[in-house]
Amino acid sequence: MKTPDFNADVIIIGGGLAGLTGAIHLSKTGLRVIVIEKNSYPKHKVCGEYISNEVLPYFKWLDLDIENLHPTHIDSLHFSSESGKSLKTKLPLGGFGVSRYALDHTLYLKAVSQKCAVLEDQVNEVVFNNDFSTVHLSSGKTVTSSVVLGAFGKRSNLDQKMGRDFFHKKSPWLAVKSHYKGDFPDDVVGLHNFKGGYCGVSKVENNVLNICYLTNFESFKKFKNIEDFQEKTVERNPHLKNILRNSEAIFEKPLTISQISFEKKNNVENHILMIGDTAGLIHPLCGNGMAMAIHSAKLASESVSEFLNQRISREEMEIHYQKLWNTNFKKRLRYGRFLGKILEHSALSEILTKMITFIPFMLSLIIRKTHGNEIVIK
Ligand SMILES: Cc1cc2nc3c(=O)[nH]c(=O)nc-3n(C[C@H](O)[C@H](O)[C@H](O)COP(=O)(O)OP(=O)(O)OC[C@H]3O[C@@H](n4cnc5c(N)ncnc54)[C@H](O)[C@@H]3O)c2cc1C
Repeated sequence: MKTPDFNADVIIIGGGLAGLTGAIHLSKTGLRVIVIEKNSYPKHKVCGEYISNEVLPYFKWLDLDIENLHPTHIDSLHFSSESGKSLKTKLPLGGFGVSRYALDHTLYLKAVSQKCAVLEDQVNEVVFNNDFSTVHLSSGKTVTSSVVLGAFGKRSNLDQKMGRDFFHKKSPWLAVKSHYKGDFPDDVVGLHNFKGGYCGVSKVENNVLNICYLTNFESFKKFKNIEDFQEKTVERNPHLKNILRNSEAIFEKPLTISQISFEKKNNVENHILMIGDTAGLIHPLCGNGMAMAIHSAKLASESVSEFLNQRISREEMEIHYQKLWNTNFKKRLRYGRFLGKILEHSALSEILTKMITFIPFMLSLIIRKTHGNEIVIK
């Protein structure tokens, strides 16, 4: 057998939010970590860029001061139905707005400063044998370790390679995001519905406005291009029309992604502990995916530390992590999936959004059911 090119205590596949958080956590405890990320930093990502304050105690523990990125501080939600009927509510815990460009890059620099190796390469296969995993890269190199964390996001070549169920089911969702210059309050996140989708609006650092919408392909395909779709569908909501008509795009063209799946996934597969979207993506309407990605990295890192310090067996580590994941996230994802199903049907979606604007308590309830509490540090 060929000698591996690298080895580590832990290999993390994917250097997004979950992967980099796991790398910072594990290296802080003295473990040798290799992150394999196919893209280079910094990079813009399709995301609403509103992060729940749930993560703040954990960021503090990781010695990450988010204030250095000059985020906006968001404590209110402005919600509207397609017709423009709207309501404002306070967010119980609140959050902050920061671009993924800045956030992921900061986490990357922190991981590197803690001596994590970050390889720019793509993982093509993971083979588990004799209590060790061998990770095969596009460059032809191999990396081995006794623990692998899967942090490769919502949809990756590895999902196909591993034959994960969700990969073969068609998903109707696509998303469009761009940064803008425009007037918008710093402390508000807007959640505005339109036929077949919804749009999130909030400020990030440097007075930049992030506008990101999710829509189903059926609505989208009837139009010539993004501009046409925005004008004839998204802007039918008067709030969105006002925001889009009075803002100037900073990106040359918007970023888009498709095939966004909210299907159930296994959180341990082939002895890989899955974290972030690789374990399950909550509907973005809930604005909780990033907090969950970061929190799941903490839970996996703690389970891995127990195993590598020989306090529990591999089997116990895997069972322990699955239990923690289910306790913390399973219900939130279920609610998110339910909301997503409603959104898939324009008529139901309009009824729900209208009901919410008439019965504001429903919105508070949805926020409570799809968000967690501050991450507890023991
Ligand atoms: C439209 C939309 C809006 C959203 N808005 C919000 C919001 O406002 N608030 C919120 O909290 N959440 C939001 N989310 C969810 C949030 O973006 C995700 O939950 C979060 O990005 C998950 O982080 P992650 O680390 O799991 O995945 P990612 O950040 O996607 O990282 C995965 C990484 O793995 C790498 N990778 C993949 N395959 C390989 C491979 N084979 N080899 C090497 N590297 C690989 C990728 O390049 C990528 O960098 C939104 C999601 C969508 C789709």
